[in-house]
Amino acid sequence: MKDISCKLLVIGAGPGGYVCAIRAGQLGIDTVIVEAKKPGGTCLNVGCIPSKALIHAAEEYDRIVHLASGRNGLGIRTAKPEIDLSQTIAWKDTIVGRLNTGVSSLLKRAKVKVVNGHARFRDGKTVEVETETGRQVIRAENVVIATGSAPVELPNLPFGGSVISSTEALSLTEIPERLAVVGGGYIGLELGTAFAKMGAKVTVVEAQARILPQYDAELTRPVLKKLQALGIEVMTRAKAKGLAKAGGTLLVETESGSEVSLAADRILVTVGRRPVTQGWGMEELVLDMDGPFIRIDERCQTSMRGIYAIGDVTGEPMLAHRAMAQGEMVAEIVAGHRRVWDKRAIPAVCFTDPEIVAVGLTPEEAQKMGEVRIGHFPFSANGRAMTKLGEEGFVRVVARADNHLVLGIHAVGQGVSELSAAFGLALEMGARIEDIAGTIHSHPTQGEAFQEAALKTLGRELHI
Ligand code: FAD
Ligand code: NAD
Repeated sequence: MKDISCKLLVIGAGPGGYVCAIRAGQLGIDTVIVEAKKPGGTCLNVGCIPSKALIHAAEEYDRIVHLASGRNGLGIRTAKPEIDLSQTIAWKDTIVGRLNTGVSSLLKRAKVKVVNGHARFRDGKTVEVETETGRQVIRAENVVIATGSAPVELPNLPFGGSVISSTEALSLTEIPERLAVVGGGYIGLELGTAFAKMGAKVTVVEAQARILPQYDAELTRPVLKKLQALGIEVMTRAKAKGLAKAGGTLLVETESGSEVSLAADRILVTVGRRPVTQGWGMEELVLDMDGPFIRIDERCQTSMRGIYAIGDVTGEPMLAHRAMAQGEMVAEIVAGHRRVWDKRAIPAVCFTDPEIVAVGLTPEEAQKMGEVRIGHFPFSANGRAMTKLGEEGFVRVVARADNHLVLGIHAVGQGVSELSAAFGLALEMGARIEDIAGTIHSHPTQGEAFQEAALKTLGRELHI
């Protein structure tokens, strides 16, 4: 097979890698991308997209179950619904398939050469790819490592049999009667909630003192309330110890040190993700590390000239939109543009019920920097939220007391993920409280709670 030479080689076609390659192609850079599996990476194939499809199906089902109960107050009556998970999964797969094709078409349109196979560094400028038709050698002036992340496996609870990761959970064709979820973080709660809505008896085992420890307690309280309403048992300060010999039972060590046996048909382990730094010849390079991650500077450059790293392999937050933003920036740097990572905030959204959005500093973080103003507006005082039976939750604005610069915006509530764009824009534009308070927000929308929270920090709230 003839060797390929190019200006830019991207390893991994997840959100970081494929966006980098598309932008590079648009800029006229001679670009090659190598992908071992399917275009779109974790996010498109076994992460963001399939999980949100499953969450949506579960929400729809739960909504109809609720309506069928006749206790909905809306005057709607319907027959008891049924869910066929194998059909739901088939529907999810069609969405994934359409997006796989979409990414491939975008790469083609940008004139990016796609090589299917597993890449391995021979040296800092040369990579070998095992393809279906043989070994392909690629030489490149610049290389971007975008190899992503994989689920963390617990040594005492290895994946296999009834112990599954998010990847298997997103392809189950039968709803487990009893599901134990180890780890009450993003994935455990997003998927745990979805399975509970579809009828599974779910127990969450979380090592920390509370669920979603990455968010402040005020934001997670409504989520905990809903978990309880769904009949999900939450064990905190509890650690999974392993499977009982007889099988079908998870042994959990509780806070007091006692051992509890949890009968479970499936055990979903979601205790974080680890960077993929093995299996592609990192030992042939001399890369500085930042713990388990590849160390990068504000241009995503590694310690080796001409080698960049982006996305999950470079550390927290392991989010698709961070990977994409890094990918776009690196493509422009390779094209000679003057770019540097100058983002003020990376929004985080947790697609639980209700959803959580966090952009910028929490009140506690902001208070460490000086005096702050905090405005809080509950959805129970928002007309649109009432009409959607979504009164639980609030929007919270944190700003500097002296010049009113907004430092953080948070929300918990039904459908608030869609407010993350407005929150992110406000922070990125350096908004003052008066900018948000003075912007006309359409009525009736949940976005009005954003304006009201800003008004409240000024002591000028109107609807509460
Ligand atoms: P990845 O998406 O992991 O892609 C890396 C790619 O590199 C893979 O396709 C892999 O096959 C390929 N690769 C690796 N090594 C090689 C090699 N040697 N040769 C060739 N190819 C290679 N993030 C959000 O922002 N929002 C969400 O709602 C969200 N939901 C999630 C739900 C789940 C269940 C999971 C697991 C993750 C979720 N994430 C979410 C996280 C998100 O998926 C990741 O942050 C994102 O995919 C990281 O992108 P990446 O490009 O760095 O790596
Ligand atoms: P996570 O870090 O969100 O949560 C892991 C949880 O497991 C933590 O609460 C931790 O305290 C707990 N834990 C760790 N070891 C444990 C043990 N032995 N027993 C019990 N609990 C234990 O990790 P995740 O849910 O696996 O998700 C991985 C990453 O994927 C996230 O950090 C995030 O970056 C990304 N993700 C994002 C989204 C989103 O943006 N909506 C959704 C899913 C995943």
